Amino acid sequence: MTSTTIPLPHLIGFTERNGNWHAEDLSLADLAKEFGTPLYVYSKRALTEAYQAYDRACVDASGKRRARIHFAMKANSNLAIIDCFKQLGAGFDLVSGGELSRALAIGADPSSLVFAGVGKSADEIAQALKAGVKCINVESIAELHKINQVATRLQCRAPISLRVNPDVDAQTHPYISTGLKDNKFGIAYHEVLKTYREAALLSQIDIVGIDCHIGSQITTTAPYLDAVDKVLDLVAQLKKEGIEIHHLDLGGGLGISYGEESPPDITEFTNTLLNRVAERGFGHLDIVLEPGRSLVGNAGVLLTHVEYLKPGAEKNFCIVDAAMTELMRPALYEAYHAIVPVQSKPVKSVTYDVVGPVCESGDWLGRGRSLAVEEGDLLAILSAGAYGFVMASNYNTRPKPAEIMVDGKNVYLIRQRETVADLFANESTLPKQTHSPLG
Ligand SMILES: *Cc1c(COP(=O)(O)O)cnc(C)c1O
Repeated sequence: MTSTTIPLPHLIGFTERNGNWHAEDLSLADLAKEFGTPLYVYSKRALTEAYQAYDRACVDASGKRRARIHFAMKANSNLAIIDCFKQLGAGFDLVSGGELSRALAIGADPSSLVFAGVGKSADEIAQALKAGVKCINVESIAELHKINQVATRLQCRAPISLRVNPDVDAQTHPYISTGLKDNKFGIAYHEVLKTYREAALLSQIDIVGIDCHIGSQITTTAPYLDAVDKVLDLVAQLKKEGIEIHHLDLGGGLGISYGEESPPDITEFTNTLLNRVAERGFGHLDIVLEPGRSLVGNAGVLLTHVEYLKPGAEKNFCIVDAAMTELMRPALYEAYHAIVPVQSKPVKSVTYDVVGPVCESGDWLGRGRSLAVEEGDLLAILSAGAYGFVMASNYNTRPKPAEIMVDGKNVYLIRQRETVADLFANESTLPKQTHSPLG
């Protein structure tokens, strides 16, 4: 059995003081006592500082805004989280009609909404057009025609961007190579000009922008610069043909540190991208960035209690009350999350696989972790703010956990724990049979 010695991620808003982990000014142990476990805890300061790190680069020395931040809501769409970002000045990147409804529920300005996604239904397109979103990012020629049809029926204009698959050289940037082979997303680079020409001929379509999104958890700037260059080449070519692009959407995907990674500093990263656009003579474009993970990933932790310690011949298991139903990333991508005891105690460290109670061997949260814990202790699973709660499921009839947000000394319940009754409230049994089924 090997135990990992991966460093902890550098966190804002979550600190260990005298052996006790805190979210801002509140101890995680007290929060678990008050709200129960499993429990998602977010730090308002962490998400605010991440946003401000982007925003610092978006405003130039003279105070002029060079870019806008659209939070990619699929990373964490709790109303309180998206409302915080709205108040900080963010727009939103949406990937479903459901997410559009969330944005409208918090009173987001429709002109700050971009609708992306590879399989938008006609109903979703209609919903977006009626709401008056800034732009629909189109991912195929078939979708372009469907948008035109829906806009014709609604007698409105449809503002669109094409999502370019910039085909950044995978060899030189192995981190994103899987994203490149996957052609489900975006329009192939060599087909983009042709598709814009086709869009320009459609009666209800207004070409407003160009978009790309090259992957997720990317920890170097180089592939972004390659993508920017390739997209700007298209913008220049389109201009020659009389097709004017007004906004440039560079997508999201900047990685965070879960422990080992050292992604670029957000402000530096953003400056590098925006400077490249300006150097190439496109500083006049309205630029949009769509970060998800890098705004919320390290702004949340998942608290869980140790139910049982189960020593074994091959492995020791630390069975906790959270599972793949609360945090699916380990089961789905073998993702690593640091796991720490919330209160350190002088017991012997043992190497455990940290697993949940769900009836699947894939239900694990961390493997080979050296932990000094006893039954009943509390663990914090770090870096759980992005793609955590949003992927939660009710498998094994497990109610989804509560979510809380800490702001200094204050704590707010931002989603109540589901009850088991909630889970089957929409189900019904068949009518009782009053005669024999054979008639
Ligand atoms: C998921 C997604 C994002 C955000 O990605 P992160 O890796 O969370 O930053 C941005 N844009 C689009 C189109 C996406 O699908």
